[in-house]
Amino acid sequence: MTTIATTNPATGEVEKTFDALADEEVDRRIARAAETFASFRTTSLGQRAEWMRAAAGVLDGEADRIGAMLTTEMGKTLKAAVAEAQKCAKACRFYAGHAEEFLAGRRPADAGDVGASDAYVRYEPLGPVLAVMPWNFPLWQVIRFAAPALMAGNVGLLKHASNVPQTALFLEDLFRRAGFPEGAFQTLLIGSSKVERVLRDPRVKAATLTGSEPAGRSVAAIAGDEVKPTVLELGGSDPFVVMPSADLEAAARTAADSRCLNNGQSCISAKRFIVDAACADEFERLFVGNMRAMRVGDPMDESTDVGPLVSEEGRAEVEELVADAVGKGAEVLCGGERLDGTGWFYPPTVLSGVTPDMRMYHEEVFGPVASLFRVGGIAEAVEVANATGFGLGSNAWTRDDAERERFVRELDAGQVFINGKTTSYPELPFGGVKRSGYGRELSAEGMRAFCNAKTVWVG
Ligand code: NAP
Repeated sequence: MTTIATTNPATGEVEKTFDALADEEVDRRIARAAETFASFRTTSLGQRAEWMRAAAGVLDGEADRIGAMLTTEMGKTLKAAVAEAQKCAKACRFYAGHAEEFLAGRRPADAGDVGASDAYVRYEPLGPVLAVMPWNFPLWQVIRFAAPALMAGNVGLLKHASNVPQTALFLEDLFRRAGFPEGAFQTLLIGSSKVERVLRDPRVKAATLTGSEPAGRSVAAIAGDEVKPTVLELGGSDPFVVMPSADLEAAARTAADSRCLNNGQSCISAKRFIVDAACADEFERLFVGNMRAMRVGDPMDESTDVGPLVSEEGRAEVEELVADAVGKGAEVLCGGERLDGTGWFYPPTVLSGVTPDMRMYHEEVFGPVASLFRVGGIAEAVEVANATGFGLGSNAWTRDDAERERFVRELDAGQVFINGKTTSYPELPFGGVKRSGYGRELSAEGMRAFCNAKTVWVG
C-alpha cells in the first residue's frame, strides 16, 4: 500500500503522514463533484473569473509560505518554489482574462455554405475530470490543468503524487477560499492503485495525467476501455543542440540552468547536449565550468542552486544510470558521485562518450546529469537529437537562419526553442509527441482539451 506522507528530501525525515481516503469517502466526493457540476457549469464566466482572480491573489499573497511547503515536501529550492507559486498566480489571471475569447463560439465564414441560417461551434464543459499529477512541480502541474478546466466550467478531482499531500490539500483549500463552490475542486488522498476505480466511475468524464510513461500507459488503457478522453504529459529527454554560430557563453549558461532546473528533475530539462565538433571543446569547457559552479545544498538557503533529489529511490535510479554508462566506457567530466551526509543530494554531473548500448542513451535521467555528444554537422545533430523515444521539448542554438529553419522543421518534438530553453508559458500550447504523450495543455488548446466542441446548425 502506498504511504501518503511528507518526507523532507533534505533531511530524509518523515514529517507528517496521512491516511488514505476510504472507498466510501472517495465515492462521496465523486458524487459531490457530479452534483456541483450540474450548477457550476451554469455560473457566468465573469463569476468564475472573479473566483480565479481571488485564487491568484492567495497564491501571490502567500507565496513565501506556499514555497516553504513545496520545498519541504519535494526539495526544490525555496526561490524556485516561490517563483512557482507566482507563476501559478499568473496562469490563473491569464485564464480569467482569456476564457471568454477561448470559449467564444466559432462561426464559419458563411453559414449559407452549409445550408444553414446559422452554424457555429460551442465549447461546453465535460464534467468531473480526474487529474493524476506528479510531485516535481506540485503546484504548477495542477494549476495548468485546473485554471483552464474550471474556467471552462468543468470540475476537478485531484489524485496528487503520494509524497506531496500537504500541497494536494492546499490546492483544494485554495479554490474553496477563492470562492469556488465546494465540490468544484476536490483532492482525493489515494494511492495509485485506486486510480482505476475512480476512472471507471461513470460520473468521471475524462482524465489528465502528468507523470511517467508506465503511469500514462495504465491510465490511457483504462480510459480507452471506458472511451474517455485523456491528455498525457509524460517524460522527456530533450536535446540541446549547439552549432558553431551560436553565442557559446549564453548557450553554456542556459544549458547548465536547464539541466539543473528543479534539481535536475524536470520533464523539459535539456538532458542530451549535442554539439558540433567545430565548437565542442569550447562549449564543453564553458558548460562543465558552469555545472561545477552550481551550489548544491540546503534548498531553503537563498544561495543554493541545486537541492536534493526527491527520494532515496530517485537518487538510486540516477546512480544506476550513471554506473551503467561509466561501466560501459562513458567518461565523467564532473560530478558522478553522491554527496556525503543526510539528504538525497547528487551533484551536477557531465558525461561524455555516451553510446546507444548504455541505458542513459534511451532513458530519461531524472537528476542533474548531462550527456555530451559531438557531431559533425547539422544532419548528424538532428539525427542524434531525434534518436530517442521521447519527443517533449527541444532546444537549438544557432545564429544561422537556414539552420534555424531546419531545426524548426526537423526536430521531432512538441516544442522547439531556438536560442533559449524549453519553458512552459500560459500563452503557448505545451505537450509532446512520441512517448512523451499526446494532447496539449495551456493556451486555448489546453482549455478546449476538456470541452465538447459542439457543432450547432440552425436551418
Ligand atoms: P509517476 O510515478 O508516474 O507519478 C505521477 C502520478 O501518477 C502520481 O500521482 C502517481 O501516484 C501516479 N501513478 C503512478 N503509477 C500509476 C499507475 N500505474 N496508475 C495510475 N496512477 C499512477 O511520475 P513521477 O515520478 O511523480 O514524476 C516524474 C515523471 O513525470 C517523469 O517521467 C517526468 O518527465 C514526468 N513529467 C512530465 C511532465 C510533462 O509535462 N510532460 C511534467 C512533469 C513531469 P503515486 O505518487 O501515488 O505513485
